[in-house]
Amino acid sequence: MQAARALTLEDLTSFCVRRGFFFPSGRIYGGLRGFYDYGPLGAELRKEVLDDWWYYFVRRRVDVVGIHGCIITHPKTWEASGHVEAFFDYLVTCTKCGKEYRADHLLEDLGIKVPALSAEAISSAIKEKGVRCPECGGELGEPVPFNLMFSTYVGPKRTKANEAYLRPETAQLIFLNFRDVYYTVGAKLPFGIAQVGTVFRNEISPRGFLFRLREFTQMEIEYFVNPKKLDECPFFDEVAQMKAKILTAEAQEAGSEQHSVLTLQEAWESGLVKTKWHAYWIGESLKWLGRIGINLERVRVREHVKSELAHYAVQTFDIEYYFPFMGWKEIIGISNRGDYDLRRHQEYSGKSMAVEDDGEAVIPHVIEPSFGLERVLLALIVDAYKVVGGRPILSLHPRVAPIKVAVFPIVDKPEFTKKAWSVYVAVKEHFTAIYEEKGTIGRRYYDADEIGVPFAVTVDGRTLEDDTVTVRFRDTKEQIRVPISELIPTLKRLMGREGVDRGSGAGAGI
Ligand code: AMP
Repeated sequence: MQAARALTLEDLTSFCVRRGFFFPSGRIYGGLRGFYDYGPLGAELRKEVLDDWWYYFVRRRVDVVGIHGCIITHPKTWEASGHVEAFFDYLVTCTKCGKEYRADHLLEDLGIKVPALSAEAISSAIKEKGVRCPECGGELGEPVPFNLMFSTYVGPKRTKANEAYLRPETAQLIFLNFRDVYYTVGAKLPFGIAQVGTVFRNEISPRGFLFRLREFTQMEIEYFVNPKKLDECPFFDEVAQMKAKILTAEAQEAGSEQHSVLTLQEAWESGLVKTKWHAYWIGESLKWLGRIGINLERVRVREHVKSELAHYAVQTFDIEYYFPFMGWKEIIGISNRGDYDLRRHQEYSGKSMAVEDDGEAVIPHVIEPSFGLERVLLALIVDAYKVVGGRPILSLHPRVAPIKVAVFPIVDKPEFTKKAWSVYVAVKEHFTAIYEEKGTIGRRYYDADEIGVPFAVTVDGRTLEDDTVTVRFRDTKEQIRVPISELIPTLKRLMGREGVDRGSGAGAGI
């Protein structure tokens, strides 16, 4: 039975903390809301997912290169990008107890829909429905825009002139460096620049464990296309026949939550997805989710309705995952940003952002797949979490499992432990691995299953006779016998060569 449906946020959080995936940051001082530290298993999981993302979207491809930009960024960047003016949520404060709420979340929690995210619409919804402070029943003040960017000062003087922002997205660093990258690598359109890294948003109400954080990691690609060639995608065949559940803006505007199942070819041909490149990147993003083991049955694609489109977006589709404790939520946003960003930087810097293509100077249009790493991890863990025979098992794909191999002596006796330790040391050269000799073998298998170790190697009586070990599979409990001399190649084969041989130095870990 799939227990994920019954999984609560509390179950998940306590499981992840108990097993050392994540810890509330500053826990000994009561924690800091919206900040989580990665524990040992979380840090390995994070690295596996980042590395696989980098491999799939950058290294494997002929048309994408990576950069690594700064976190503290030139303040002009965010004036040009529109973030200083438009990157805000509405805040309402209780006039009695002073508690602050993100207005749209407060209304959403009470099942109240507002037609548009404007101060007027929020204010009249609060008045009409008589919404009061959920904490003390006090009257709520007027909604005010609250900018989500964190700022700091560069240099010793804490003056306005020295103020700079911590980046709220990695995307802008790509736009700033666009021309330098284009010319230094000798790129030709279409081509993409990728970046992964930490970003900061001063969210009014962080919640949902890793879902809404104040410090998180983005994995983004800005893909640049000649505006005359937005429907010329040479790779489209690779995704054309993929089916996706798509919830259109039209359906939502008519009050429906019913998705349509369409191939990406149909989604593009019908004009639902405005450009072929956009449909392609939706397909690639879905394929990668499948590749790291996420069940695509629990994934849908939702088009943004007009009133929620970001200031830069021509069209946006979110890839959403169905979380049993909070319903459908965005884990990836895929936007058609048009030429908004490059034009704005051209205007604010006075430097041309055009490049040569087909003998003409063009400002490319941009399709942006933007992944939130922690949201992907949350979906991965929820998706993999099962209760079998009353015990949790984390059925993670071997490609991303934080620990790939567990090595055990059958019992805690020197003739077995010595041999098992030598196997462990040899295995650790190639894979993340753990070793344990205490407790019953059954207990040790369960412990390894719980943290998602796909393969357990056991040294037993027969090992001492013929130098073979058993390899046990987490999901089926099946066991095979393998000569120790064949163990490493066998494990590599079982895990899928590619997932293992691409190595760990993908440059994506930050
Ligand atoms: P956005 O720029 O708002 O479209 O965000 C891009 C991606 O970043 C989203 O699809 C999320 O996966 C992730 N993301 C955005 N805000 C947060 C947050 N507060 N905490 C964690 N992840 C986030």
